[in-house]
Amino acid sequence: MFRSASFLLTLSLAVCFSATAATKAIKFGKLWDGHRVIANAVVIVDDDKIRSVAANGAIPAGVQTIDLKSFTGIPGMIDMHTHVTYYWSGEPGTSPRRQGPRHVAITVVLSQRNGMKALEAGVTTLRDLNASGGADMDLRDLINMGALVGPRLFVSGAGLHGLPKITDMNEKVAEQIKATKAVIAAGADWVKIFGSTGGFDNVTGDQTVSYEEMKAIVDEAHAEGHKVAIHSYGPAGARDAIRAGCDTLEHATDMDDATIAEMVAKKIWYVPTIDHNQYYVENADDVYKFPAGAKENLNDYIRRNYVTAQKAFKAGARMLVGSDAVYNGFGLNMRELTWFVKMGMTNEQAMQTATVLPAEALGMEKSLGSVAPGYFADIVAVQGDPLSDIQVAIKNVRWVMKGGAVVVDKTSKSGVRPD
Ligand SMILES: [Zn+2]
Repeated sequence: MFRSASFLLTLSLAVCFSATAATKAIKFGKLWDGHRVIANAVVIVDDDKIRSVAANGAIPAGVQTIDLKSFTGIPGMIDMHTHVTYYWSGEPGTSPRRQGPRHVAITVVLSQRNGMKALEAGVTTLRDLNASGGADMDLRDLINMGALVGPRLFVSGAGLHGLPKITDMNEKVAEQIKATKAVIAAGADWVKIFGSTGGFDNVTGDQTVSYEEMKAIVDEAHAEGHKVAIHSYGPAGARDAIRAGCDTLEHATDMDDATIAEMVAKKIWYVPTIDHNQYYVENADDVYKFPAGAKENLNDYIRRNYVTAQKAFKAGARMLVGSDAVYNGFGLNMRELTWFVKMGMTNEQAMQTATVLPAEALGMEKSLGSVAPGYFADIVAVQGDPLSDIQVAIKNVRWVMKGGAVVVDKTSKSGVRPD
């Protein structure tokens, strides 16, 4: 008995030893930690967390050193609105919305490819807002288990819709509360409400979920410790989403001054997803085969979306990057930053909409969005300086560490090389 106990003790010490040994030192010529620039930064990583960050910091003897002195380090970026389970093979003769049905297990495996595209774009965290069959939760859990490589996921499961067949408001509200409880019980981190029409080439924004229903869903979710994202393409759904006290408002054109003022006063996050429709314009003919007139409608929507978002920004709204990435849009996740800079943000303000601010919106401000001691070692190396050229954060990602593991390495000719 004694012998086997001591054998077990030796074994557990061996496991501890190998965990302690996973210390890495990363050297950056320049590091933007989410708040400030540190020249000649040395980041020490223990397992999945950051131990220290210091200019010209000492490197402990014997640890693996990763030399990224010719790059700028930034925090792993966060995309607050994606659809990672929307996968398209790109095969000739198919289009994203004309694909055969898939078993959920196949969807999960294929979704990982979208997740890898996001990682290659420097995005180490996604908030994913609508998936069927629990594919988003499965992918999240498999990634967290280490069984698959991918970004950290905060997911909503299937979004909640309006209930046009029910006419009685009390009954509608009761059904929406039931649906909220069900999606949370199934494992959703966030609750998503489709508060209006609109999506793909459809840019209508007709409200589909009433204020009473939104309020009931928000109150139920908050009582259970979960947050709510409300999709509204148009102003009526947005006004009621803000009145109901959602946590993030998605898309939303043509908001009036009173709605914007209430959003600012309540500190509700605004995720305008402007670039998403630009992506649709670029892919309208060859990929999506949208009908005639679609591009004109999309361009008109983009213009209104931009004007509304700029008005909100000038009024003090807290804004976040959401790509609304679907299908071949993965990899373009950070293009929204171009719009944010165009509307008047400094490059640093724009970079914060993809790092420290979404971390706060997720309730993860003590562990994500910054390169700082105690935070997850989600770190990206870019070629150039995103504080002087925002395109650097969008197009020049060369190396990505997620939770202390190198998941993308394009610093040499080897291309992508997962750890
Ligand atoms: Zn979306």
